[in-house]
Amino acid sequence: MVEEQIIARGIKDERIISAFLEIPREEFIPCEFRDLAYRDFPLSIGCGQTISQPYMVALMTEVLSPLPGEKILEVGTGSGYQSAILAYLGAKVFTIERISELAKKAQETLARLGYYVRIRVGDGTLGWKEEAPFTGIIVTAGVDKIPPPLMEQLAIGGRMVIPLGGRLSQVLTKIEKFAESNFGKEEICSCIFVPLLGKYGYS
Ligand code: SAM
Repeated sequence: MVEEQIIARGIKDERIISAFLEIPREEFIPCEFRDLAYRDFPLSIGCGQTISQPYMVALMTEVLSPLPGEKILEVGTGSGYQSAILAYLGAKVFTIERISELAKKAQETLARLGYYVRIRVGDGTLGWKEEAPFTGIIVTAGVDKIPPPLMEQLAIGGRMVIPLGGRLSQVLTKIEKFAESNFGKEEICSCIFVPLLGKYGYS
């Protein structure tokens, strides 16, 4: 996986490569699909949701480029794998999942593997106001517009990675907050994510 899907496609950050080498991805995958854990596609994690393709997780992490000690908000905990990668990199991870069954399972997996991540069950489009601002925000579901609370809760100098577009396909986008109402936007590549639901997402 690391050689063929991650390094060969241009991920260069040694810390991210180490995270993918060290973290046992199969632990985040339901038993029936464990033999597919290192394959080049997303997998079902139950409740109609998916764990993203390994390369997409690596790319989003590289675009976010979290530094040790930075406060990062993830919207869409899913299996907890992306949270584990961020925690491995030394970030202080706050993650929100709307499906309590997935949040509980992710919490168990992360605790068992020794990753300290704060998980909340709720609508991630509202962000996590009490813990804001965040130097990084990563949204792992697709949406047509950036939820305003996430823009507000991003620190000045911070960056956000978010799939923006329609329900069926999106463009992975990097947002940088230069000042209170001064944002930069860079389109990275096309992608396909499950929809972001909630107050500022799809209904
Ligand atoms: N990052 C995850 C991982 O490493 O396994 C994959 C996330 S999966 C592609 C997207 C997740 O976003 C799903 O688990 C879904 O339930 C969650 N989601 C969708 N809308 C949400 C919302 N408003 N708040 C929190 N989670 C949401």
